[in-house]
Amino acid sequence: MRATKQPTDQIRGIAEILAFTYSPSDLSRILVEHTADETGHCRGCQYPTKASPVWPCPLWEIAKETERIRGLPESA
Ligand SMILES: [Zn+2]
Repeated sequence: MRATKQPTDQIRGIAEILAFTYSPSDLSRILVEHTADETGHCRGCQYPTKASPVWPCPLWEIAKETERIRGLPESA
């Protein structure tokens, strides 16, 4: 039996953990920083050693899912 390798499952698993560790302001900062630039790549994931991923990047998706899990009890 093989575990299905769906990114959404991974993202959800990570997001459930982060929902307990990240504050709403941490999450909103990630969501603000990780947006598409004019070429469609993520502004928040620009490292000198590797190409930035196409947006939405995994980190943004994780933050978005975490936000949804938390249900945004308060505005940041
Ligand atoms: Zn990013």
